[in-house]
Amino acid sequence: MSLLSPATGHRRTVGAAAVRALQDAVPGVHLPGSEPYARLTRTSNLLHPVAPLAVVEVTGPDDVSATVRLAAAFGVPVAVQGTGHGAAEEMRDAILVHTAALDELTVHPQERWARIGAGVRWARVLEAAAPHGLAALCGSSPDVGAVGMLTGGGLGPVARSHGLSSDTVRAFDVVTGDGVLRRVTADEHPDLFWGLRGGKGTLGIVTAVEVDLVALPEVYAGGLWFAEADVPGVLRTWAQWCELLPHEGTTSVAVMRLPDVEPFPAPLRGQVTLHVRFAWTGDAAVGEEMVRALRAVAAPVLDTVRRMPYAALGEVHDDPVDPMPLHETHHLLDGFGVAGADRLLELVGPGVPSAQAMVEVRQLGGRVREGDPCAYAHRDAAYSLFVVGLMVPEVAQVVTRDAARIEAGMAPWLRDGGLPNFTGGSGPAWAQRVFTPLVARRLRALSRTYDPAGVLLAARGVRG
Ligand SMILES: Cc1cc2nc3c(=O)[nH]c(=O)nc-3n(C[C@H](O)[C@H](O)[C@H](O)COP(=O)(O)OP(=O)(O)OC[C@H]3O[C@@H](n4cnc5c(N)ncnc54)[C@H](O)[C@@H]3O)c2cc1C
Repeated sequence: MSLLSPATGHRRTVGAAAVRALQDAVPGVHLPGSEPYARLTRTSNLLHPVAPLAVVEVTGPDDVSATVRLAAAFGVPVAVQGTGHGAAEEMRDAILVHTAALDELTVHPQERWARIGAGVRWARVLEAAAPHGLAALCGSSPDVGAVGMLTGGGLGPVARSHGLSSDTVRAFDVVTGDGVLRRVTADEHPDLFWGLRGGKGTLGIVTAVEVDLVALPEVYAGGLWFAEADVPGVLRTWAQWCELLPHEGTTSVAVMRLPDVEPFPAPLRGQVTLHVRFAWTGDAAVGEEMVRALRAVAAPVLDTVRRMPYAALGEVHDDPVDPMPLHETHHLLDGFGVAGADRLLELVGPGVPSAQAMVEVRQLGGRVREGDPCAYAHRDAAYSLFVVGLMVPEVAQVVTRDAARIEAGMAPWLRDGGLPNFTGGSGPAWAQRVFTPLVARRLRALSRTYDPAGVLLAARGVRG
């Protein structure tokens, strides 16, 4: 007797047939149990493992087209992954297209643009652009994939002065759900150009992207870490200070509770600390003036703010790179200010029990509000709140409850919605958070046109 429902049994049979057909049609098909499958399905958040029927390690757009067409013929969904940094759903019963081998990268220094394959991480782009004094608008972690980040809009450490990363996109090469490779620009398929900037993987599998580079060899940037006793004073000052900060400055704060273990630096671990991140793209002397207000509140225990090459921008947030089991919640705020800072201190400040490793407030605004209309739906949000807890089994329930407590406490500042790159989950619930109803409706219409069979797993959210 089978323990599977007839529907599950049928899906499995169809899935197995699709995988067999794929093995005949495309090279690089890896099955569960193999070393490449294990390597390519790795995710950086261990709480979000992926377990597709098979992984196709594509080597070019033709492999992507063939996979998408074949999967559509069998009615099997297709997902995409480049690094596993943004994995959100299990992908069971789906085929995963893995883009790591799409590793082309060309910098055109005279015309200031770069062509980036879907498997390339920001670190390589930064390194290649730096010798020409040029910068690509990466996110806080250079380890993240450029294409994955750009399809979600992309809010980097210089976002307030230089705008949303996806506003620098000139062109996408994308295989849409009908299996057709299309070049997409503001003039060619402008509807897809709108939708791919912010729509994540709902409309297709991007194989390469072309972005403008900006002349920005150096920034005045880094992090200031403050000890437990100084957290309230600095956080309140930061909240006032950032409201007056010109657009040349991009900043965020994180209330951190780092465990008292290696490899965390001794002055930061085992206590509540405040990590202020700052990147100034104007005159460094003016940037230094700006930071003086924070340095005057208390002496930081660690201060890395200095003139630095743009290529070292990853040091501003100093994001971890090792995989960890993380519970993450994300919200958008209409404002913050001293009242918001006071509330946050009541919720997670020194002396308050909190199970979160990091509670981050990012200031948005500035040039993020500008730019052509695209599927990125929340340009006008003032701040974002990101709450991250380490999900070790003993405290898993506490972490989840604690995140809900923080959300409830910050309710007066919260607005509906979330950013596609920071909002976990999948399906309609995810789409409802990251897209406004108007954006979702437009994406649904595009999805029906370019993906008639509904083969793209990520499109389920907008198709309902
Ligand atoms: C440490 C860390 C720091 C971060 N900092 C920032 C930040 O500062 N700003 C910011 O905006 N985001 C940030 N993010 C979020 C990050 O941009 C998203 O998680 C992004 O989706 C990661 O892309 P990836 O390709 O690396 O991940 P993957 O797991 O490979 O992909 C995640 C998703 O991106 C989409 N995608 C990936 N490749 C393609 C493709 N070829 N075609 C179409 N869609 C594709 C799909 O929806 C896919 O499910 C951060 C994430 C981490 C882990």
